[in-house]
Amino acid sequence: MATALQRALLRYYASNHRDLPWRRTRDPYRIWLSEVMLQQTRVATVVERYDDFLSRFPDVRTLAAAREEQVCEAWAGLGYYSRARNLHAAARRLVAEHSAQLPTTADALQILPGIGRYTAGAIASIAFGEAVPAVDGNVERVLSRLLAIDAEAGSTAAKRRLWGMAAQLAACDRPGEINQALMELGATICSPRTPSCGSCPLRRYCAARAEGDPLRYPRRSRRRVERPTLRLAFLWHRTRSGVWLERRPLRGLWAGLWQLPGEEGPSARARLSRRLGARLTRRIAGVRHELSHRIVLASIYAASPPPTLPHRATLRSFAEPLGAPLSAVARRAIIAARDAGA
Ligand code: SF4
Repeated sequence: MATALQRALLRYYASNHRDLPWRRTRDPYRIWLSEVMLQQTRVATVVERYDDFLSRFPDVRTLAAAREEQVCEAWAGLGYYSRARNLHAAARRLVAEHSAQLPTTADALQILPGIGRYTAGAIASIAFGEAVPAVDGNVERVLSRLLAIDAEAGSTAAKRRLWGMAAQLAACDRPGEINQALMELGATICSPRTPSCGSCPLRRYCAARAEGDPLRYPRRSRRRVERPTLRLAFLWHRTRSGVWLERRPLRGLWAGLWQLPGEEGPSARARLSRRLGARLTRRIAGVRHELSHRIVLASIYAASPPPTLPHRATLRSFAEPLGAPLSAVARRAIIAARDAGA
């Protein structure tokens, strides 16, 4: 069956794939960058940011020579800044140890920071033509349905079947196109809630479609995991030179990113007030933000009388705070404060 499926995928990809900037190149650096950007960010957002990033850092050497803060600035709008830091660290390692060249196999790529099994498979197959699989969330959905995999998503048994099938499909002379065809199918036709089976090139082979219930796959656990709540208190303070922001510590949650000056945990408001020597008199906005492992509830306060800016490298005012490397919750807090007219 693999051969018929391969043919169907290649035909589909040849005539239906979206024309995206990273599909017009075989440059491994550009393909690597696109894969990292796409890990947790929508395609439309990546399209907007991709060329700008490349104009600042057109190759591995330029990226490696930059300061981490510059890389994070160019990453603004894409979120999950640990990806930018890993990209930068990997570029430095490539320059130091590999003459600025990316390794050409999936196994060797995985020694670099931020490159896991999926990303390594995607880069190796697309840029170097290595016949290796690449299973991301979209491919997981397509193959779970194609094979009607009954094992719970994420389990060892499910992963073994998914990666095994993906490896069979990639075992040909155009593995990059096969992998991208599967990704494209998951992104455009085999969608999570409304798969368009009638126009799917795999419909003749799809077990979930034959059962009449594609939405049953991938099988998800019904157990609900309670997520703990993290409470934040932020200060909104705008002066003529801009809005105060504070840089978070270099380790831990949102490491090294900027946010409104804040404290977290119980009594966050009182501690923030003490630390800045300001009375936080008025709650001007609130933000609820969901992370995979916790719920964040942030309150944004105004101070009276206005505090004076202490001399600290980690606290300064930004004329355009949304242009700084921010965590997603900090970005939302700034927008919420502005929307509230503060
Ligand atoms: S036939 Fe339907 S469920 Fe099966 S892979 Fe295609 S879109 Fe997905």
